[in-house]
Amino acid sequence: MSSALRPDDPLILRPQGLYCAAGDFYIDPLQPVARALITHGHGDHARAGMGRYHTSAAGLPVLRWRLGERGYVAHDYGEPFDLGAARISLHPAGHVLGSAQVRIEVGGRVWVVSGDYKRQPDPTCAPFQPVRCDVFVTEATFALPVYRWPDTAAEVAQIERWRQRCGERGEAAVLFCYALGKAQRLLAELRAFGERPVFVHGAIEAGVRVYREAGVAMVETRPLEDGRDAHAGELVLAPPSALGSAWMRRLRRAQTALASGWMRVRGNRRRRNVDRGFVISDHADWPALLASIDDSGAGRVLATHGRSEALVRALRERGLDAHSLPAPQASSEPPASTAPPDGDA
Ligand SMILES: [Zn+2]
Ligand SMILES: [Zn+2]
Repeated sequence: MSSALRPDDPLILRPQGLYCAAGDFYIDPLQPVARALITHGHGDHARAGMGRYHTSAAGLPVLRWRLGERGYVAHDYGEPFDLGAARISLHPAGHVLGSAQVRIEVGGRVWVVSGDYKRQPDPTCAPFQPVRCDVFVTEATFALPVYRWPDTAAEVAQIERWRQRCGERGEAAVLFCYALGKAQRLLAELRAFGERPVFVHGAIEAGVRVYREAGVAMVETRPLEDGRDAHAGELVLAPPSALGSAWMRRLRRAQTALASGWMRVRGNRRRRNVDRGFVISDHADWPALLASIDDSGAGRVLATHGRSEALVRALRERGLDAHSLPAPQASSEPPASTAPPDGDA
């Protein structure tokens, strides 16, 4: 494992995170550091306490929502800037609003750190842009061949049918989804099914406001209403943390569902105690991981952020110099099984 990074590489692993000595910065650091490069606003990437936050301009409002006012330095996608002896540029990752891959050029060698990314169309953010490099550091959240995403529009059509059936039984349709990215993507995709408003948990509405201000078109959202059976036949979006919480008591009769890539594996639905699962992910599935590695043109690939052994094996069979890059983090990693984490999948 330790052979993933070599002494002459521009990036090294420190307890604080992935560090670039030439530019004296960390990428998505776990602990407070003077200079951080933040790929996107999810909690396992953007943390409080950094001196400076370099981020994409598109991602700035997201960081302000999640972290409040900080020492931000915003960069347009594709606009190079220098940190010490490192030339940096940020490129769309297609994961959530403002998500970025980090291109690092040191001494003529190019590294790209993908952050979280996906290749499926998403009306709420700029699409993933392949960036050619020598070394590609890829996420590996869903790096098993079983993970293949269905068409998003078809999956959203299933959500709409499920809502209708809930209505016939006098129940609300409560769909749990991550409050940053997934919820807004669903609200944007739902426009294809009419202008019916969607009821949202307060934690989700905050992000919806950020996305609306960024010009993302979504269906109308409303706060929950009080009153007996107020939400029968309505779609209600809530963060996974609300599942089984006191908040659920506001809904008298409800079916529950989870929108996540983890729903591709049947046991995970039971484990999460929801009635339905919809396979919608903001991460690359197995074919998209392989295609993106291919598109990068990299001869050397480091896989991180998930279970990477199967991916490393598949890449080595293709003749690539592939390694697992052990993440310094522990708390937000998926558990050793295929059970879903509480994170942003
Ligand atoms: Zn993420
Ligand atoms: Zn992540």
